[in-house]
Amino acid sequence: MIIKFWGVRGSIPTPGRDTVEFGGNTTCIEVITSSKERIIFDAGTGIRVLGLELMKTEFAQGKGRAHIFFTHSHWDHIQGFPFFAPAYIGRKDMQGNRINDCCNEFNLYGAADVGDRLEATLRGQMDNYYFPVDLNYLSSKINFKTLKDNRITIGDTTISALKLVHPNGVLGYRIEDGKSSVALATDCEHPSDGTIDQNLLRLSENVDVLIYDGQYTPEEYAPHKFDLPGPGKQGFGHSTAEEGIRAAKAAGAKRLVITHHKPLHNDEFLRRMEENARKLFDAVEFAREGMQIDL
Ligand SMILES: [Zn+2]
Ligand SMILES: [Zn+2]
Repeated sequence: MIIKFWGVRGSIPTPGRDTVEFGGNTTCIEVITSSKERIIFDAGTGIRVLGLELMKTEFAQGKGRAHIFFTHSHWDHIQGFPFFAPAYIGRKDMQGNRINDCCNEFNLYGAADVGDRLEATLRGQMDNYYFPVDLNYLSSKINFKTLKDNRITIGDTTISALKLVHPNGVLGYRIEDGKSSVALATDCEHPSDGTIDQNLLRLSENVDVLIYDGQYTPEEYAPHKFDLPGPGKQGFGHSTAEEGIRAAKAAGAKRLVITHHKPLHNDEFLRRMEENARKLFDAVEFAREGMQIDL
């Protein structure tokens, strides 16, 4: 299994000189399984860059296939989709029907309460008030699917989904291909009572890699605990690297990757956060755009 990070920023893209190392694109993480299935998680602005890479492969001829799983439909997880070049590649006949074997094919998945809205949400952001091209114009074959029993098998890979804590809901995922496993838990907040989310523990039990939302420092999250002023970030749906470390240790995850970096955190600040996290757990690193993990 190969994991590629195409977008690791939270909330809004942050281009600029101060974010070159960690990157400014919003969430998009690709998993290539041992049987070479392409599974993409979220369509933040990172998917635009992934799309350009895919256009160097069979996707340029309309012969590509990939699965896109959405954690949820907040802006920073869908906004790159209209700029995903392979979605435009395909051939239609005179009647406008897509010609088989000449169209890239994408299966788009969301949770029952996200998936039912997924098509409307993606269509809505391409409404002509916001974007010049309608979703129907895309020539690839796009199949909207709802994750009903929260488990799906693609080739030799199993993808399980469970709800995590986030305003209006979010799905965490566990991906297993028989050889290795990874859990994705972006946009999740830790429980306020000091416990660890049971669903997070189930998804990340003994995984090779846990990818976790560490948007805030503990001081930003709960300034009152440090005698600092400010409203704090409790209830915003995000967590800290320190909480990710607690979960990783409790679940027996071998490696922890922190993602969904706060737009206000520049490279220098994120490096400092990473150093602090390493004092608590050797196997933690902060995701950098373009990073690849081979399992
Ligand atoms: Zn987000
Ligand atoms: Zn969100």
